[in-house]
Amino acid sequence: MESSSAATVSAGPGPGPAPVDLLRRLRARGAADPVTHVERVPARAGASAPWPSWAPAELRAAFTRRGVVAPWQHQAEAANLAYEGQHVVVATGTASGKSLAYQLPALATLLADPRATVLYLAPTKALAADQLRAVAALELEGVRPACYDGDTPRTEREWIRRHSRFVLTNPDMLHHGILPGHAQWSGFLRRLAYVVIDECHTYRGVFGSHVAHVLRRLRRQCARFGATPVFVLASATSGDPATATGRLTGLPVTAVTEDASPRGGVTFALWEPPLLPPDSNSSSPVPPQATGDHDDLRQVRRSALRETADLLADTVAEGVRTLAFVRSRKGAEVVAANARRALDDAVPELGDRVAAYRGGYLREERRELERALLHGDLLGLASTNALELGVDLVGLDAVLICGYPGTRASLWQQAGRAGRSGQEALAVLVARDDPLDTYLVHHPEAIFGAPVEATVLDPANPYVLAPQLACAAFEAPLTPADLALFGDGAKEAVDQLVAAGALRQRPTGWYWRHRERPEVDLRGEGGAPVAVVESSTGRLLGTVDGGSSHFLLHSGAVYLHQGVSYVVDQLDLADGCALVHAEEPDWSTHARDVTDLSVVSVRSYVDAGPVGMFLGEVDVTSQVVSYQRRRIATGEVIDTRPLDLPARELRTVAVWFTLSPQSLALAGVQPADVPGALHAAEHAAIGLLPLMATCDRWDIGGLSTALHPDTEAPTVFVYDGHPGGAGFAERAYGTAAAWLRATRDAIAECGCETGCPSCVQSPKCGNGNNPLSKPDAIRVLDVVLTNLPA
Ligand SMILES: [Zn+2]
Ligand SMILES: [Zn+2]
Repeated sequence: MESSSAATVSAGPGPGPAPVDLLRRLRARGAADPVTHVERVPARAGASAPWPSWAPAELRAAFTRRGVVAPWQHQAEAANLAYEGQHVVVATGTASGKSLAYQLPALATLLADPRATVLYLAPTKALAADQLRAVAALELEGVRPACYDGDTPRTEREWIRRHSRFVLTNPDMLHHGILPGHAQWSGFLRRLAYVVIDECHTYRGVFGSHVAHVLRRLRRQCARFGATPVFVLASATSGDPATATGRLTGLPVTAVTEDASPRGGVTFALWEPPLLPPDSNSSSPVPPQATGDHDDLRQVRRSALRETADLLADTVAEGVRTLAFVRSRKGAEVVAANARRALDDAVPELGDRVAAYRGGYLREERRELERALLHGDLLGLASTNALELGVDLVGLDAVLICGYPGTRASLWQQAGRAGRSGQEALAVLVARDDPLDTYLVHHPEAIFGAPVEATVLDPANPYVLAPQLACAAFEAPLTPADLALFGDGAKEAVDQLVAAGALRQRPTGWYWRHRERPEVDLRGEGGAPVAVVESSTGRLLGTVDGGSSHFLLHSGAVYLHQGVSYVVDQLDLADGCALVHAEEPDWSTHARDVTDLSVVSVRSYVDAGPVGMFLGEVDVTSQVVSYQRRRIATGEVIDTRPLDLPARELRTVAVWFTLSPQSLALAGVQPADVPGALHAAEHAAIGLLPLMATCDRWDIGGLSTALHPDTEAPTVFVYDGHPGGAGFAERAYGTAAAWLRATRDAIAECGCETGCPSCVQSPKCGNGNNPLSKPDAIRVLDVVLTNLPA
């Protein structure tokens, strides 16, 4: 988020100890040194550039009034490219001022051409509102910026369409409102000079693929009116942003990635909590279930929450202003509570200087916490991600990150909160016990030496393409020339729509046959989303995508929503809703499913002797058949209850590898151990895939078997959990050697004996993590890696 309007809370009281000294004291506490790596991220002096000569004096003066003395080099470079008419993406770090890169050319154009218009897209209404404030604060005459989204009163909409020249909206509104109503927008679209796409890295997976086609529909409507707008995109630092945004827009995009904004130095430590002695699982005072973390697995390492709480207490005791990022709200409260207790034991009332921060607080409560932190009354804050913070908290002395936040981009964003101007700061990543965290703390090069992840999307997904073409046809008949715009697979998708009776082919093109427009939800995946409703109040708590609903919302399921516990009374599939009541039982629930997979077609393969690597379409059939209730404190199984839910089919994209039984035998895997070996390799491979693709392990599924009827060999499948695929399996196939190498190393380097959540156990296993063989999984992966070309 790049908001120049957000208030910035910055350092108050004097400096604490130097980060290196602080870290030395922290790591000296236990018997074993938990620090696996220390990286020194040097300070960077900013490099500014002169204002572009084309920027009118009025605009420069407006920015100067807002405190921008001169643009940084990357801002000027991107702005110049955009002004020359090139599509450009600026992909740089947090708080590097990406807004200026698009505001400069867009606003200069609006001032120079009194008819020109600009369309700005943000992934959330809040960000659009933020940007509106920033643009409005420049007080430029004739720009008339306005938000146009679901909250805009009907009475204001017409005025905005007619008079605003800088419209801020989101892809959903563009899809549901602006494009279907293009006739009313013709004046605006005809004069459209720039399309700004902010935080464009959030358009990934199936959602991103939908947005890619919404943008093609926008380009088509603009072209009908004779406009060819320039696209300016802003992204968090991401891998190969030119290619990703090229896929998103369908246009050639130039990337500006050299961040020239100034930055304070950071000492960054990777921290692995120690293994607990055997049979000490009761020593974890934090029930993992309470945090939504690995609830079904016995604790093997000291929990990351516990470790973070101790670190928070220690830094606060040193007088160091510290922010701890925890993934769940409940987790943040647990960290704060434990830190407070530890501090009070040491010095009475010191605990009062630590608090938890969660989104649910009232505005006044939030402001009070922020004020207290600013003035140093408060020294430690445990929070979920910072976007929930009402102000931009920067300039802290230390940042603790409890668990890898999923992407290097988020990691840098969180670590970026540390460091007052001109002063060194400390950042610590505390590993949770899962394969990815374990891998990362032992492979610092994967964090510090690697470019951040590429944003993955697949506009050719037929499950996205067909409905989007239906929307396009509703807006205006499709012509053969349009097919090229929508890219690979468009012709097949149109034929399919004709065969299904949705489109009619005429000599002039393809026509939408119905009165009503097609119902397409950009964010709904895997069937209609299921609404979670509190029975007693009728309050909508949220939605769960159809694909996960059987797992998470079956009758009797304990469902965590923003850290609060509910129990499901009834899952009504016909109505697409689950009725729940607030309750915090002392057990957790774990759905079991049976999965079947058949290969539909092979898209691509690598024949590597005894090993085969494949990419193709598969049909996955799965049925949630029962669930277990387990005691939170001990993990003890209370009972297993049957469920009566229908089986579901998913046509999707998978990557899979096969091995010959002979090669496994040669590698020393006994026939009886093959299932456990493949199963363990599958779990770890799924856990490591987020390293290669911007997905969550919950976006992907897997299946392993010692003999699959379609491959006639021992096989491990990893598939996209979204109809038609989301690009994750494709990415895995494209980087197979690197992906499986990382998987192998993560397993081999885990200090456990027989497998743990840090390596081969999975929190979402439908088979209760049985069978699993850690040593044999390494042998399996060695066979694959020896044979597979790098
Ligand atoms: Zn392990
Ligand atoms: Zn499993």
